[in-house]
Parts: sequence; C-alpha cells; structure tokens
Amino acid sequence: MKKLITLLCTALIALSGPAFAKDIKVGMVIDDLRLERWQKDRDIFVDKAESLGAKVYVQSANGNEQTQISQIENMISRGVDVLVIIPTNGEVLSNVIKEAKRDGINVLAYDRLISNADIDFYLSFDNEKVGEMQAQSLVDAKPSGKYFLMGGAPTDNNAKLFRQGQMNILQPKIDSGAVEVVGDQWVDSWLAENALKIMENALTANHNDIDVVVASNDATAGGAIQALDAQGLAGKVLISGQDADLAAVRRIVDGTQTMTVYKPITALATRAAEIAVELGQQKTPASNASLNNGVKDVPSWLLEPVAVTRTNLKTTVIADKFHSEQEVYR
Ligand code: BGC
Repeated sequence: MKKLITLLCTALIALSGPAFAKDIKVGMVIDDLRLERWQKDRDIFVDKAESLGAKVYVQSANGNEQTQISQIENMISRGVDVLVIIPTNGEVLSNVIKEAKRDGINVLAYDRLISNADIDFYLSFDNEKVGEMQAQSLVDAKPSGKYFLMGGAPTDNNAKLFRQGQMNILQPKIDSGAVEVVGDQWVDSWLAENALKIMENALTANHNDIDVVVASNDATAGGAIQALDAQGLAGKVLISGQDADLAAVRRIVDGTQTMTVYKPITALATRAAEIAVELGQQKTPASNASLNNGVKDVPSWLLEPVAVTRTNLKTTVIADKFHSEQEVYR
C-alpha cells in the first residue's frame, strides 16, 4: 500500500509539469547591472523565486538593446517558462516577444513597460507620481527661478512618465512665469558620465546661472552634481533624484542633493518573483491597474513611491533597512 502511494505521488509530480514551482525556469534579462539599483532588484528577485522553487537565469545587456534581444533569444532556446524583462528599449522587443509567445513563454515586463507586444503582466511603481514628487520637492524649496530639465534615457518608457509627472507640477509655474526652463536634455543610458557632460555644457551655456536641476534619478544626479561641484555650486543648486542609492542618500545628508524618491525594491522584486512563478503555473496574478501598451491593456501591479528629503530619511529608507544608519551617516 505504502509503495502504491509513493508510486502515485511520483506519477502525480511527473504529470503536473510546471504546476509545481520547482519545475519553473525563469529567464531574467536586465537592462544594465552596472547601476546599483538593478543589482538590488536581481538579488531580491532571485532569492525569492528560488525560495519558491524556481530556477532563475540572469543576464545583463549593459545598456545595449541588440545584446538584450540576443539574450532573450538565448533564454527562449534554453526553454524557460517565463521571461522577466527589464527592457533597455521597450519599443524594439515586439518580434522577439512574438517568438517567445509562440513557444508558450509568458512575459512579465519588470519596472518598465514594453510597447506593442503581447506581454502578460507589468509590474512597477506609479512612475508619473515619481516625477510629480521630484518636481514638487524642488518647487516647494524654490518656487521660482531658472530650472534645467534633465530627463532619463530616451529609450526608457519610464523616463517619459517621470517627465510627464514633472510637467504636471511645473507647467502651471512655467505658465505663470515663476519658473523659467533654461534647458532640456535627456541622458543616454541613464549614465552618470553622460549627465556630467550635459551639466557642464548647460552651466557654460547659462554662465552658471541655474537655480534648480530636475534630474530623474540618482545616477544622473550624481554626474550633474560632479559638474556643479567643479563650479563651486554643489549644495547651492537644488537637484532631485530617484532610487535612494547609497551615494545619493549620503549626498542628501551632506546637502548637495535635495531629494530622492525611494521605491521599496524589496516589495517590487518579491512581488515580481511571486508573479513570475504564478505566470509559470499559468495562473492569473492579481492586478491593481491596467496600462495600454499599444496592442492591449496589460494587467498591472503598481506600487507607491516615497519622496525622501533629509527630514524623513530615518523614517523611510533607514526604517525599511534599505540602508543602515551607519552606512548613511558614516
Ligand atoms: C527606473 C529607475 C532607474 C532608471 C535607470 C528607470 O526605468 O525606474 O529606478 O533609476 O531606470 O536605470
């Protein structure tokens, strides 16, 4: 009898295929692991997915969209059940996702939306709100003056949403004449070194007469602050950021960066791992939003970002153990 039960159980497990998490293979393709933010996402995602019994393969495209397409193809040939994609360019993946779908692979767009493709789920933060928080903190601190806009990577859909949010706050101020926009540039690949050059040129073009820089994340803010520092302007020119990178949080303490936006990555990456496993099991993950990507309304889950300045660092980033107090106030 015992033997029969064991036999039956073995047969059941064999038959159930990917209904058991341990059988699920997840391919995670990341835009760029050179940025601190994505290393955190990867670590938390992999830990959680593996604790649910899935096997995760990870690749980073280092900001190159062609490399990312090849990596996705590679994951398809490996026979993954689910693709988790942080797109480098969310506009160029339609064909390769068609290939994935043909093989029955489910696709989760992680943090950045993928346009014009039959993806199964989108998980992110409310990115327009991120932009609103950035602009609101700056406007609160400096209601009028010369503003320089520094957008993110033009190929990243999020960069457009951040800008949309920033403009929701800035446009009325521009219309009233309180805010003057003295320049508007977008930073290729979100790289600090590109932001540094853009800021140097903006300062030269404006004879250093800039009051505020609306930077869309911490990496680019870091580059811009280096250029400001070279002109003795770090701490005098207000500047926003996003991600609560350790270096940025330290700059907030030092007074050279005005704010950052903290996005609880643990919540995002943990939820993503659960969703990936559910998709691998052909289940429908719970959603709290739906975003149109050009071909469909994509079921989505959006989390809330948190604006962080020197006054609430302890109750947000540190309370959440995103960084320790010792690390921040070194
Ligand atoms: C993310 C930001 C990140 C940026 C650069 C955006 O899509 O939402 O958190 O700083 O990409 O990697």
